[in-house]
Amino acid sequence: MAKRDYYEILGVEKSASKDEIKKAYRKLSKKYHPDINQEEGSDEKFKEVAEAYEVLSDENKRSQYDRFGHEGMKSKFGGGGGGFQGSGGFGGFEDIFSSFFGGGRQADPNAPRKGDDLQYTMTVDFEEAVFGVTKTITIKKEVTCDTCDGNGAKPGTSKSTCSMCSGAGRVAVEQNTPFGRIQTERTCPTCQGTGQEIKDPCNKCKGTGTVTKDVDIEVTVPEGVDNGQQIRVQGQGEPGVNGGPSGDLYIVFRVRPDSRFTRDGDDIHYELPVTFAQAALGDEIKVPTINSEVVLTIPAGTQTGRRFRLKEKGVKNVHGYGYGDQFITVKVVTPTKLSDEEIEIFRRLAEQGGEKINEQQENIFDRTKRFFKGD
Ligand SMILES: [Zn+2]
Ligand SMILES: [Zn+2]
Repeated sequence: MAKRDYYEILGVEKSASKDEIKKAYRKLSKKYHPDINQEEGSDEKFKEVAEAYEVLSDENKRSQYDRFGHEGMKSKFGGGGGGFQGSGGFGGFEDIFSSFFGGGRQADPNAPRKGDDLQYTMTVDFEEAVFGVTKTITIKKEVTCDTCDGNGAKPGTSKSTCSMCSGAGRVAVEQNTPFGRIQTERTCPTCQGTGQEIKDPCNKCKGTGTVTKDVDIEVTVPEGVDNGQQIRVQGQGEPGVNGGPSGDLYIVFRVRPDSRFTRDGDDIHYELPVTFAQAALGDEIKVPTINSEVVLTIPAGTQTGRRFRLKEKGVKNVHGYGYGDQFITVKVVTPTKLSDEEIEIFRRLAEQGGEKINEQQENIFDRTKRFFKGD
């Protein structure tokens, strides 16, 4: 369902003054108030009106809305979509709203919560990825404050019961609304619902219980890891809250390319340059592999693009499923600078070789003709 224009909802002009907006809101919120209007859909209308007023009554939000429309509001409304539940920073509106609809109660602020996960991109060399390595990385992260042990109170002092809510975490407030005074309950602003107050906050963490620190972490790069793969380092994320476990650290690998080899999964590809002579006459050529080198026999008459396979000379599979292969693709390199003598040799070669190629072509042509003729 497309969101309706806020001005349209309140039935006012775009140029409406603050007073006009307020009047329209009062009229409509009374009309659709769920306690007064029993018609179906009136609570939706009431919400719509309240949302429109929330935006248009605030100068900043109104100008944001005027410029960007509903899109511009998304960040303020917890992702758009009309979701009003528990979005923080709503101030008066959320309180009024939750008092009518019973929503807005937050999860227990004293419950243990797992810390946030972190992500780190680690760049490794081609060989480090192929063979694995142990490396130390330094990341900036939140850690438990060692001065107060995460408690937030100055050492020697402790948290005390919140003086505002007497430990309940919630306080009753009376509010003037367009429909009269309403008593509502809201999260205690002093203790944010925890029921405890830090009278003497820790100097180091200012009472938050955590500090930002550069932390060295030893990372085992698994043998055979490939570009884009990730590992999880358990418990190296941000610290948990209220005794909850720490989050995890996800390390995503970026592998630097190699000048000789390219990788395709666990297979290694290598391009082997050979001369005309080597290709024509055949040769034994030393070829590097990721481990050492092998001697590859190129048979006489090898064409450019021919591929050889060295079984299981590729990368060890990161999950332990054996090894990949190495593929060697022959590339006949055409010489670019020739001596006079070489030019003479190629001339003579051309006179003979040219005929040979023609002969071959003719033969294939003849054979094809015979095939179709049926003789
Ligand atoms: Zn409190
Ligand atoms: Zn501290």
